[in-house]
Amino acid sequence: MPVLDVNAIDKTADPCVDFYQYACGTWIKNNPVPPDKSRWGRFDQLAERNLYILRDILNDAHAPGKHSAIETMVGDYCAACMDESAIEKKGTAPLTPELDRINVIRTNEDLIRQVAYMHRNGTPALFAFYQQPDMHDSAATIANLDQGGITLPDRDYYIKDDAKSVETRQKYVEHVQKMFELAGDKPDVAAGEAKTVLAIETGLAQASMDRTVRRDPKTRDHKMTVADIAGTAPNFDLAVYFADNGSPKFTSLNVGNPDFFKQVNQQLDKTPLEDWKVYLRWKTINDYAPALTKAFVDEDFLFNGKYMSGQQEIEPRWKRCVKSTDQNLGMASGKLYVDRVFGAEGKERTLKMVQGIESAMREDIGELTWMSDTTKKKAYEKLDAIVNNIGYPDTWRDYSSVVVKADDYAGNVRRARAFEVRRQYTKIGRPTDRKDWGMTPPTVNAYYRPSMNDINFPAGILEPPFYSKLMDDAANYGGIGVVIGHELTHGFDDQGRKYDAVGNFSDWWTAEDGKEFVKRSDCTADEYSSFVSVKDDKGEVKLNGRLTLGENTADNGGLKLAYMALMHVIGNTPVKPVDGYTPAQRYFLAFGQIWCQNVTDQEARKRVLTDPHSPGRWRVNGAVQNSAAFQQAFGCKAGQPMVSANACRVW
Ligand SMILES: [Zn+2]
Repeated sequence: MPVLDVNAIDKTADPCVDFYQYACGTWIKNNPVPPDKSRWGRFDQLAERNLYILRDILNDAHAPGKHSAIETMVGDYCAACMDESAIEKKGTAPLTPELDRINVIRTNEDLIRQVAYMHRNGTPALFAFYQQPDMHDSAATIANLDQGGITLPDRDYYIKDDAKSVETRQKYVEHVQKMFELAGDKPDVAAGEAKTVLAIETGLAQASMDRTVRRDPKTRDHKMTVADIAGTAPNFDLAVYFADNGSPKFTSLNVGNPDFFKQVNQQLDKTPLEDWKVYLRWKTINDYAPALTKAFVDEDFLFNGKYMSGQQEIEPRWKRCVKSTDQNLGMASGKLYVDRVFGAEGKERTLKMVQGIESAMREDIGELTWMSDTTKKKAYEKLDAIVNNIGYPDTWRDYSSVVVKADDYAGNVRRARAFEVRRQYTKIGRPTDRKDWGMTPPTVNAYYRPSMNDINFPAGILEPPFYSKLMDDAANYGGIGVVIGHELTHGFDDQGRKYDAVGNFSDWWTAEDGKEFVKRSDCTADEYSSFVSVKDDKGEVKLNGRLTLGENTADNGGLKLAYMALMHVIGNTPVKPVDGYTPAQRYFLAFGQIWCQNVTDQEARKRVLTDPHSPGRWRVNGAVQNSAAFQQAFGCKAGQPMVSANACRVW
């Protein structure tokens, strides 16, 4: 898979009319979504390649012979997952003790103790509890309490009244009923239980804040004492919960959405305890399903994979098992992945590109006419403070306390997840651990953390189509270069700009400059809100330009910064066209081709509600139509679709 694939291009298209079609048209025609996927792009192709590498690693780790402790652990974990006959033999046995615990609940206090038990074991229910740096003192990590407890991917699924949402809820209730039946309940009982689950989750959804509203950190910034929040929502018995959930003791915490606790407090009072028990049983069954027998796995797939995402077939068992290993022991299998595929050279070259793109950002900030020197000074400080993490963490996670048994897949999953919960909770009350990674090394993704002010590129993304040492600079800057610029720009998008150099939520902008920024990001929000994301028999859905604002800002910024850096690298040395394309054209083509993808209508609909990223087409066309450098590279003229009449530019 080359970084820039001339065979992917649709030469019958006009790059100035629809650049996405030009860069990706032939790829899109020749690469339909495989039956075991709901989206298929060049990103996903690389993820699939990494999955095959991980499979080889895990097979080798389990083959006869001598193995390190890490190899034995991940090899056994994956093999236990592959052992379907052992799993069938166990039937619902892994579930029984869990459901028994719920059946004996007699009081509200029992109920909250059970929620604490479930959270300790990584099963979501009722609300969320996690650690995060203090928003106003990022050097310290504190406890966070937040809304949660719903099962469908967004609160809108419970609240909206359009035909599609009504249908989804109906399908969901049928699915919940089937799962209760598999767990042993009679159909009529299970039908009633499913309705109870929907009613309870609808209450939780109504009390939840909208995903787009939550993008503003201010809406989630509520530091309070334990006594305060416990007093606001007495029916939660939060003092009991905190004492029982396995976290260290603390006296103050942040509450992401205090109103959620106020509202659900009433729901706890009004809804019979027996109904809450039904809800907790559902959350347990649902959480265990992928680790249980084929009947559970298939029903779980039919709803979540097929109905919700349009995936035609379940993935082969081995893919699910390799993914499970990555998910639950990923820093162990990830170490083996790094040893096998990632050399020190990859780290050095990436770091060099990062530094080039960081200086492009410095130059870009300097050239802004709308920003005062006072704010610029602060922006430079923040830029200089950004920490670059490339490839994999400095120290590897120690999983030696996780018990992995060759014949107990469901137990392995639970023990690994309990380990991770404990590891996370241990951070509470301690200095913030800035070295801990949020993604495993084989992951094809990258991220910026506002409270850490760091950019992170797992080894998994430092491969073609993003990066290849065999490719020219133009292609590599259009690939991984734009990704680097994208993550960097996140530090200065509508969310990131609200955090300072050390990661505190604090306003470092002059009032005037803040207004100028909002004016420009409003332009981007409106622009992307006009793009159509899905058009199918259920109607047309437009992008939510507010939900995707941070990502779109980062896409536009990344495209600009990596281009500036590339021009510095090329300098005045004449570079010959390759395959008939100038370096500038190759840069934009490589960028466009990162996003070549096909997606099912169902998946596109889900993403429009839940995904802060725009679909591939708009990540490309949205960004290039704002880019003068693109228009110059392809000779596009005013009035053509890829030349926006009022181009938006934040950075
Ligand atoms: Zn992003």
